[in-house]
Amino acid sequence: MHFSSTTETEIRLTLDAIVELTNSVVSGQADVRSTLASRGFPRAEAASQASIERLTARLRTLAALFSTLPDLDDPTAVSWVNEELTELHIAPSIVSHDGVGPHIHWTPSTDTFDNQVLADLLMALAQELCENGTIRFGRCAAHDCEDLFYDGTRNRSKRFCPDPKCASKTHTAEHRARQRAD
Ligand SMILES: [Zn+2]
Ligand SMILES: [Zn+2]
Repeated sequence: MHFSSTTETEIRLTLDAIVELTNSVVSGQADVRSTLASRGFPRAEAASQASIERLTARLRTLAALFSTLPDLDDPTAVSWVNEELTELHIAPSIVSHDGVGPHIHWTPSTDTFDNQVLADLLMALAQELCENGTIRFGRCAAHDCEDLFYDGTRNRSKRFCPDPKCASKTHTAEHRARQRAD
């Protein structure tokens, strides 16, 4: 029997945040505050505009790298994440806040919100790299979309980014192609 731990769920939520932030930052349509608020970062609502702006700027650099994850071999991804981690002040502690039960914060409570978020994103990615490497990151199969996805399915059957339009228009095109072939 498989037990899904809270930590596992949190990591998964943070990996989804990485994907969503990367896709929206790359397309220039990022709403970093609301993406974070909906992906397990309740403090994003009250974060200062300055820290959201700093975070958005830093995410622009990181997103360029996150978006290459499907092409990176494991050692390359590992050394890149290790490099990024050296830039952060990692000092873990267990905290409860905003109605969220005990969970780990990777940076001190005195650190800026943008540092805390980046530490969370990078530590979730670090744990994913230890667990699965880069294999679960993929690029959308829709012909006009390059977006990143994370495949958490058991049989690794995911083909499309989180935008539901990509799956539906591709399925329609495939269906038409099959009809023509008949
Ligand atoms: Zn927290
Ligand atoms: Zn797509």
